[in-house]
Amino acid sequence: MTLSILKERKDQVVERINGNETVSCSRESLAGAVSQRACVFCGSRVVLYPIADALHLIHGPIGCAAYTWDIRGALSSGPELHRLSFSTDLRERDIIFGGEKKLEAALDELITRHNPKAAFVYSTCIVGIIGDDLGAVCRKMTELKKIPVIPVQSEGFKGSKREGYFAACKAMFTLVGTGKPENISPVSVNILGDFNLAGEIWIIRDYLKKMGVEVVANITGDGRVDDIRRCHGAALNLVQCSGATLDLAKMMKEKFNIPFLRVSYLGIEDMAESLYIVADHFSHIDKDIEEKTRQLVKTELEQIMPEIKKIREELNGKKAAIYVGGAFKAFSLVKAFRRIGMSVVLVGSQTGTDEDYRELAKITDPGTVIVDDSNPRELSDFIVKKGVDVFVGGVKERPIAYKLGVAFCDHNHERKIALEGFTGMLNFAREIHNSVTSPVWKFHPARLSRVEEKSSEVCCG
Ligand code: SF4
Repeated sequence: MTLSILKERKDQVVERINGNETVSCSRESLAGAVSQRACVFCGSRVVLYPIADALHLIHGPIGCAAYTWDIRGALSSGPELHRLSFSTDLRERDIIFGGEKKLEAALDELITRHNPKAAFVYSTCIVGIIGDDLGAVCRKMTELKKIPVIPVQSEGFKGSKREGYFAACKAMFTLVGTGKPENISPVSVNILGDFNLAGEIWIIRDYLKKMGVEVVANITGDGRVDDIRRCHGAALNLVQCSGATLDLAKMMKEKFNIPFLRVSYLGIEDMAESLYIVADHFSHIDKDIEEKTRQLVKTELEQIMPEIKKIREELNGKKAAIYVGGAFKAFSLVKAFRRIGMSVVLVGSQTGTDEDYRELAKITDPGTVIVDDSNPRELSDFIVKKGVDVFVGGVKERPIAYKLGVAFCDHNHERKIALEGFTGMLNFAREIHNSVTSPVWKFHPARLSRVEEKSSEVCCG
């Protein structure tokens, strides 16, 4: 079959041969290619969304709010104000005469009604075009309402989702350092870059507690404004997901001299490694922390490995495709699939960097296709050509898989079962096993027609 790669995108798609391949990346999406990427505003919304006791007001047309409403279902152990999607609902008249007054009125009403700890105000495409002064309105409302009202300069058109992450980090950083960092243990961390989609933060907090590590703030999952204000008192930042919060960690290092470690809570190897590096970091303060961590990992593995081994036998030789937002998550997924006997034949991301793709080329098997900023047509073609059994992605990738009659694992937006930590690895193995071995796929029209095509090729020689 011929593959639908537009000629301008050829260097953003490579087949892994010897592990030294590079992928052209970090550039604007090709016009007309129908990129899977989200806009700048969406990137900001994703990162700030799980701050559960803050008001999130989208200054723009109602469509921007609807598009990101409850975007990741991030769980909260307390308030749930974040799940409401407020919008100034800009109309034609506001576009012509300006929307600042409407924004002021909306903030006034919403802050009075919901009494939030802070408010984030997101700029959208049209606000960037008409030039409403978000900063001025936010300053005025901060004074009037006596809570931080923070502008998020996330005009959708000014780049890709990655710029949105940066705008969100800049907005959050205005809160950091405004609280009192009292009574914080020297063995303490902040958790960055986990969105607590299905309670993952609680699993990780539990591991850290067993190791004797205090968590000061879960900045991007089950987040609280007051925790973020005092999180500069933590001794270490743990950063998961390369794109979303690395900038915040860098800003905190520069201003407050807090070191950071990059971690991943997905899969057995990376989860264990993430705990071991934290133990190593604090071993000069707590002499027992390394032993406590070893015991924790051992106990957890003893509980999950017998079932994972059984699942592995049944999945051996099956093929997976991965398409995620930031490439860092893909590293762990490649290893997790290997652990359950499957090979990854296609892997890509919306916002991977040169460094990310070099790493992917190193850890994948020969023949794996690596793509940057892909589109539905390319993904569909590769999935069919490579005979993929399960596709892992987010909400925009789900229809691609289902139209092709391929099993799908939502790793992002609509999860209800945690996939992180050791328990999460078992959940992941069970879900992949159930989806891949489901009999439903053999009745899917797209699958049936592919089988027919193949058999007619055989008949005709
Ligand atoms: S900010 Fe712009 S690109 Fe993003 S959802 Fe709104 S209109 Fe669309």
